[in-house]
Amino acid sequence: MPNAKTDGQQGVIEIETLLQLTRQKTELYGLLPNEMEQWVSELGQLKFRARQIYNWLYKKRVTTFDEMTDLPAAFREQLKEKAVIGTMKEVTRQTSRDGTVKLLLELHDGSTVETVLMRHNYGNSVCVSTQVGCRMGCTFCASTLGGLIRNLSAGEIVEQLMFFQRMLDAEGERVSSVVLMGSGEPLENYDAAMKFVDIITSPESVHIGARHITVSTSGLVPAIRRLADEQRQITLAISLHSPFDELRSSMMPINRAWNIEKLMDACRYYWNKTGRRLSFEYALIGGVNDDLRHARALADLLRGMPCHVNLIPVNYVPERNYQRTPKEQIRAFVNELQRLGVNATIRREMGHDIAAACGQLRAEQGRS
Ligand code: SAH
Repeated sequence: MPNAKTDGQQGVIEIETLLQLTRQKTELYGLLPNEMEQWVSELGQLKFRARQIYNWLYKKRVTTFDEMTDLPAAFREQLKEKAVIGTMKEVTRQTSRDGTVKLLLELHDGSTVETVLMRHNYGNSVCVSTQVGCRMGCTFCASTLGGLIRNLSAGEIVEQLMFFQRMLDAEGERVSSVVLMGSGEPLENYDAAMKFVDIITSPESVHIGARHITVSTSGLVPAIRRLADEQRQITLAISLHSPFDELRSSMMPINRAWNIEKLMDACRYYWNKTGRRLSFEYALIGGVNDDLRHARALADLLRGMPCHVNLIPVNYVPERNYQRTPKEQIRAFVNELQRLGVNATIRREMGHDIAAACGQLRAEQGRS
């Protein structure tokens, strides 16, 4: 340990940091089953205690240690001292007429993230955030307005889902699918995002099938390749928004690092490695990327690629001056894609009355 006397100011800071770290409690939602085992043995407990804790967290879904009644009282006290179940607080809850629920959650450091539950006839889908803010700088997106504040930990991503699972318990329902499409770029917070996937897919946890999980990216090519190599069965969604490099670069700065050709190569690689059909997101912006010339170029680009295109009428962000594409034009766009053999649908809009689009609630709070 550095000596405060001889190391001067630098050493003092390091000691402070070390003390802070040792004071920090373990975030239980961030532990994989095997890590939980390791952690309980470090506390001097038998391994089966880990299974019991996991069971309380993910099957019975309690939020306090006192409810973990099959653990010895002394161990529960030890847990209170060393660990936390959750670290987030609900700040606002908005429920839309279509059943969509949006939560603004406050993290331990005072930052906020939003998370959304969508009720479909095929099940309940949760959209989680992976970062506070975002640094990708896409011009149409509210999440990026204040830049990136920080990455979320795996536990903070799991906890977003658990808020909704506990809410659904009252109706005897479960979260059946998850999209990593809230604020942030999941592939920039790769390790935490994938640990989140590993935790929620494990049978000891909420056990959501990998095929029911979608990771959306603005196009981080090396991370797409890494994900492909790991051969997970999750769905990869690419935020494309334009078939033309010049336009895409003006909307999405990341395109200057990895252009459409490099992105499509990575997508083909993903398909070859995993056999999973890709999803492409295309936000239609009036007069920008929504005429039939764009539809035809998009069809050319995607020819031969097993994929699905989600057309999203752009959500209005007050700080941006984008207009929505008129309904007839949206129809014409999707018809043109289908005529050219592209599997495309218009995404059903949910929660429109509650600002449920990425970053909108958090941005709204910042504005007021
Ligand atoms: N950073 C990741 C995931 C978060 S965004 C990504 O870029 O994919 C989730 C999706 O919402 C992305 O496809 C994004 O481009 C889209 N999106 C962002 N702002 C939007 C807006 N105002 N209207 C419609 N879609 C938007």
